[in-house]
Amino acid sequence: MSNKKSYDGGVPTGGGATSIPASSPRMAAIAAVTNYKPSAPPMNFLETPAQQLFSANVFSKAVMRDRLPKKVYKAVAKTIETGSKLDPSIADIVALAMKDWAIEKGATHYAHVFYPLTGLTAEKHDSFLTPDGAGGALAEFSGSQLIQGEPDGSSFPTGGIRATFEARGYTIWDVTSPAYILENPNGTTLCIPTAFVSWTGEALDKKTPVLRSMQALNKQAQRILNLFGHTDGALVSSTAGPEQEYFLIDRNFFFARPDLLTAGRTLFGAPPPKGQQFDDHYFGAIPERVLAFMLDCERELFKLGVPVKTRHNEVAPGQYEIAPTFESANLATDHQQLIMITLRKVAEKYGMVCLTHEKPFGGVNGSGKHVNWSMGSSSQGNLLDPGDTPHENAQFLTFCAAVIRAVHKHQGLLRAVVATAGNDHRLGANEAPPAIISIFLGDQLTDVFEQIKAGGASSSLPKGTLTVGVDVLPPLPKDAGDRNRTSPFAFTGNRFEFRAVGSNQSIAGPLVAMNTIVAESLDYCATELEKATGGDPSKLNEALQKLLTTIINEHGAIIFNGNGYSEEWHAEAAERGLLNLKTTPDALPQLQAPEVIELLSKYEVLSERELESRYETYLEQYCLTVEVEAKLTVEMAKTMIFPAAVRYQNLLASTCANLKLVGYEFDTDTLDKVTALVKELQDTTAALEAAMAEETDEGALAHARHHCDAVKPAMAVVREAADKLEGIVSDDLWPLPTYQEMLFIK
Ligand code: ADP
Ligand code: MG
Repeated sequence: MSNKKSYDGGVPTGGGATSIPASSPRMAAIAAVTNYKPSAPPMNFLETPAQQLFSANVFSKAVMRDRLPKKVYKAVAKTIETGSKLDPSIADIVALAMKDWAIEKGATHYAHVFYPLTGLTAEKHDSFLTPDGAGGALAEFSGSQLIQGEPDGSSFPTGGIRATFEARGYTIWDVTSPAYILENPNGTTLCIPTAFVSWTGEALDKKTPVLRSMQALNKQAQRILNLFGHTDGALVSSTAGPEQEYFLIDRNFFFARPDLLTAGRTLFGAPPPKGQQFDDHYFGAIPERVLAFMLDCERELFKLGVPVKTRHNEVAPGQYEIAPTFESANLATDHQQLIMITLRKVAEKYGMVCLTHEKPFGGVNGSGKHVNWSMGSSSQGNLLDPGDTPHENAQFLTFCAAVIRAVHKHQGLLRAVVATAGNDHRLGANEAPPAIISIFLGDQLTDVFEQIKAGGASSSLPKGTLTVGVDVLPPLPKDAGDRNRTSPFAFTGNRFEFRAVGSNQSIAGPLVAMNTIVAESLDYCATELEKATGGDPSKLNEALQKLLTTIINEHGAIIFNGNGYSEEWHAEAAERGLLNLKTTPDALPQLQAPEVIELLSKYEVLSERELESRYETYLEQYCLTVEVEAKLTVEMAKTMIFPAAVRYQNLLASTCANLKLVGYEFDTDTLDKVTALVKELQDTTAALEAAMAEETDEGALAHARHHCDAVKPAMAVVREAADKLEGIVSDDLWPLPTYQEMLFIK
């Protein structure tokens, strides 16, 4: 190397580097992992079979049927099943039955559970007990306490709404999502799912718009069903089955990493020598401690009536997935929140931490939450089931075409509802769908729509049989289309799968978007068909052919069955005029697009004010997230990584000096590199601080842009220097658990 410093004969200072103790939290963490013994006793499924556990802690319809007067039960069931108005006069009776049931299960308190715009779950607990005036206490729970609560609205983000209106907020009982008991070693709590609104009736939460959008979808779907002669009016509900991906790491590592602890993701960390390139983790055998955790988790969720079904390893080391069977969208959303809470809670019991961040580890696959979505009713079943011969299934084709049109027309909204700081690390990074929204239809349906375009569909590609060439294996019916993992919005046989959703998100936003855009499309289809047929059913077929042809001609550009990761697709998508909104500050302004404002207010899902409050809140959340990460980056660079690097530098320098004293040569190659990297770390940290200090007073969007375009890149170069140091600095001086340790020690 050119700039070797020659030793000047002086006595080296700081020669005590070798006496500095090895990085103790890391070693302690590893020791704790290897000596780990489960704190929870093994579960005995023979004692209580899983079937008996299911819904054991839920104030379900079955419990209500047993405990409520027949008339009252019927009224509640009617609201749940048909979406009709709730009769408020029954509340006192339901409350009494609910209280008795809860007290039998050990409850001392009740809580209105609600879902603020942070995407988290909030609870306000109140005791059942009230003083009776004679020195004793009575357990009380009235209808009005069941129906309405009043948490302090000012502690939750409300965007613009808070600025102009009072902070007062109300929680309102959602009878369609059953109450349940949450257990704690010291007692249990009756939890009541609620909507959260301001005193002017504006939605401050994620649940209210879900309910409104389901109502809008039902209304428009009924019009289509009427045209096809189905006039029973059975409620059409949107259905959702979310697949939750997550990471598990040992708790000791978690607490030794301020970035994981505070930001939920690592801001530093060199890639391990062995990552996921061997593809040996996906669907691999589940490690014992992890399986014990999963079984416990599933048991807890079973008790809460969450129908968890699937579990497996995911692509990255340390990554797993849990998926319930699909349910009505509102219930699925509440249950999804319970799944995230339960994953975190149970992981602790097993000495682990569940990471639901979209990208906890750089260079390793991130986590998504595929939201499977469809719509159906008790009399019609799944409206997106094509049957064996979709070309003959006009009703299916109408619903499917409505979805195609909706996704094409409202790509921007669909992109905006998955825009978060965490998800930005995933979308478009060749491990998750690109930021371009498109639909994968599969060969069979693409062919049917091609035929429609050419004048009429007369055949469907057969499904065929899969033969493996081994006599002992039975032939299998083959799916009509292959899978495509690169598509953000894929038809998967009888539903669409929205894959761009982030693992840490509430699924409410994506569901609101899907329900509402499809409601608008069904409205359009129904209006066109009603006009063309003028009430004469014999004219339906001709009208339909015309409508479907128009839709596929105007909106077919959204269909793409190829590789969504490829360069060519990005070029082609641009030619097709599809949006490519790469980051959150690019995507969120879609929430303020005139057509989106018009859409959501027309179908009474979100008023202009409510939408604006969401836009502001999400921008603010983005900025706060990046700000915290930037501060952490500076802090860790200065107080953990820099000290470790200079200790090592000092060690090398004193070795060099000592060797030269006794006449040996010392190759200063490593010392030079460390010295250069230490300088790089200092310079980049200073540059990051400068970027953070830059004031932007041109509003929230400009602020977010600054965080995206200046602060994030500045963080990335600090990390680059630090990660290079990690590869050089003596392992026993490195203060942070490494990727290798966190991902592979279980
Ligand atoms: P994958 O093969 O995509 O990993 P999984 O079995 O993990 O599939 O998850 C598929 C999800 O799709 C499940 O939650 C399942 O219940 C859900 N699903 C199935 N049918 C429907 C439907 N009609 N509407 C909504 N979700 C559905
Ligand atoms: Mg899956």
